[in-house]
Amino acid sequence: MASSLNQKFGLPKRYQGSEKSVWVEYIQLALDYKPICNLGQGFPDYPPPKYVTDALAEVASSKNCLLHQYTRGFGHPRLVNAIAKLYSKIIERNLNPNTEVLTTAGAYEALYSTIVGHVDDGDEVIIVEPFYDCYEAMVKTSGGVCRFIPLRPKKNDRGLSTSADWVFDPEELKNMFNEKTKLFILNNPNNPLGKVYKKEELEMIADLCKKWNVLCVSDEVYEWIVYKPNKHIRIATLPGMWERTITIGSAGKTFSVTGWKLGWAYGPANLMVNLHMVHQNCVYTGTTPIQEAVAISFEKELTRLNSEECFFNYLPKELEAKRDIMIKALIEADMKPVIPEGGYFMVTDWSPLASKVDLKNEKDKYPDYRFTKWMTKTLGLQGIPVTAFYSEQHKYLAENFVRYCFIKKDDNIRKAADILRKWKASLKSHL
Ligand code: PMP
Ligand code: GLN
Repeated sequence: MASSLNQKFGLPKRYQGSEKSVWVEYIQLALDYKPICNLGQGFPDYPPPKYVTDALAEVASSKNCLLHQYTRGFGHPRLVNAIAKLYSKIIERNLNPNTEVLTTAGAYEALYSTIVGHVDDGDEVIIVEPFYDCYEAMVKTSGGVCRFIPLRPKKNDRGLSTSADWVFDPEELKNMFNEKTKLFILNNPNNPLGKVYKKEELEMIADLCKKWNVLCVSDEVYEWIVYKPNKHIRIATLPGMWERTITIGSAGKTFSVTGWKLGWAYGPANLMVNLHMVHQNCVYTGTTPIQEAVAISFEKELTRLNSEECFFNYLPKELEAKRDIMIKALIEADMKPVIPEGGYFMVTDWSPLASKVDLKNEKDKYPDYRFTKWMTKTLGLQGIPVTAFYSEQHKYLAENFVRYCFIKKDDNIRKAADILRKWKASLKSHL
């Protein structure tokens, strides 16, 4: 009986192969080992801006009781209006809030609606590596076939390595495209590298998308977190790209409220209808109070977009100082950090330490998994293994790297530095 039940109720084929999740595994690892310093999953460990949480409090106690009931399915009117207003300014094109914007349950659902809403059996989808892991699972579930184009580190002679050193080979990129290509998925700024794509790189991608009639999905959840002098260029603004781009954002990243799980997608109405279909038959509508509070927050920022007080301009400055503490600590620990141009993660080469750690009790296939688990358990410092962001065929490119999240209190970043410093001193005393 049990075996026939198991046979009949096994995981549907379309989900098979997507069972392993670095997030599930490493969040559990943190629960089990309670590291002193958890720089794994990406979220701030300090409060969001007060006006954002005040907005939610205001909504919760509002006399308008309808703010606690269902709202418009494709997006709460006040929020889609604010989003359309913001991006109309930024991309210099008048967005229609009702047909060109969709709000979702986090950027995850925006990605899901875009991918499931466009990919058919046998369609090919090009994904730039390192990639956010859910892209692959979502494409597979839709019956699509992933084609991976890796960013590889090139040598620089400046000493310190930066995310700008990670590039794709233009020939390899060209060879990825064919008649079956349906989607190109780009993550700019990139998680985990922090790469902020240059105009020339985006133009190469755009030209190929146009040549092969391909839809570009641009995951821009870290759009506001870009360190000077780098500039975030939205691929939808390149000539001929609006027509074939869906851009995705996240309130979690924009306002430092990852637990609110609110995202959005914007793009031309004829493409957005496909996302609407998935959304209306999946969650149908998002949470009203959260959407109202995010709308209020956007409205505030819209009044001061170019000022220093604007949170979108303040956040990267605040993070740049944290990034620099982290770089120093990693260098002092003999690791080789890759300085990010954007985002709040830093990838670092741990291979100089390989001879100093005993990983034999860790059984994972890839050394970065073994190293990160050892470090959580032995030193109490948690990071994320970077092979999790590469396809099987290219994992070898990432096995010497670990990702640390630095949107943390300065005290906690210093704690990480302290752990590394003490560890290094203990190694010396054993020599
Ligand atoms: N894309 C990228 C690149 C991410 O790092 C994340 C994680 N926050 C998401 C999408 C999902 O965002 P959300 O939490 O809004 O669903
Ligand atoms: N995007 C976040 C990160 O990269 C959160 C991941 C998650 O919770 N799935 O750490």
